[in-house]
Amino acid sequence: MAYANCLQILKDAQAKGYGVPMFNVLDYESAAWVIEVAGEEGMPVEVGFFHGFAPSFDPIAAALTVKEMASRVKAPIGLHLDHTPDYKTIAPFLKNWDSVMIDGSSLPYEENLALTKSVVEICHPMGVSVEAELGHVGSGASLDDIQNPDHYTDPKKAAEFVAATGCDSLAIAIGNAHGQYVAAPNLDFGRLAEVRAAVDVPLVLHGGSGIPDEQFSKCAAMGMSKFNVFTDLNMGYVEAVKKAIAAGADKRGMLGVMLAAKEETKEVIRHKMRILNPNDLHLYR
Ligand SMILES: [Zn+2]
Repeated sequence: MAYANCLQILKDAQAKGYGVPMFNVLDYESAAWVIEVAGEEGMPVEVGFFHGFAPSFDPIAAALTVKEMASRVKAPIGLHLDHTPDYKTIAPFLKNWDSVMIDGSSLPYEENLALTKSVVEICHPMGVSVEAELGHVGSGASLDDIQNPDHYTDPKKAAEFVAATGCDSLAIAIGNAHGQYVAAPNLDFGRLAEVRAAVDVPLVLHGGSGIPDEQFSKCAAMGMSKFNVFTDLNMGYVEAVKKAIAAGADKRGMLGVMLAAKEETKEVIRHKMRILNPNDLHLYR
């Protein structure tokens, strides 16, 4: 054990009623810490990678790190390629990745559908699963992106989109947004219930940082399966480093700082994992 395909991970979560966090990682440390926590909690997790992070974490090194560290824990660990605009961006990752996201959500509906379908047709024969997005998850810095239901996912269109594209999972917009939120999000749970009833593929919540814990848990309880988290981990990591230095851990140089920051950052990861596990399952301890 325990590297696993993300789609298998999500289907299990959907069947058993818990949520799987996907943490986008920037370096060896954050990847290894996410996997360590998954092992300690006995719950699956996905490690996310964004192509724009390549200057910080070489993609091949990232994939090797995830697969090696995954082999040391019982919990299933997935590796997912987050937001990509086209197949050209995906192609170099296919040697090492078996789960990708194609994001055509800012395109008109028909163009999003055609783009997603074309990526699915290339990826499925290679055993690569594809996440798509319908409705548009915008920026937490924009009140309109958070509160205007015109950006939210239409349940009827979602059913049509999944059937027409063959995508394996679907990211939806219900008042969630990327980055830090200018106003506290108030997720549209009625819409979540409608989309959940309309499609059978695992649903994905992007912008999982800054959403109040009870709303996060409620999404998991209502059948949302994957929860993308970057900002909370990224900022939590920085805060942990600052705190370690303020406490004098830097007297031992980077070794002291990283060892102190590790425990603090792991708690940020653990907290997200626990609020997505309302029945307190520990399936792989
Ligand atoms: Zn996203």
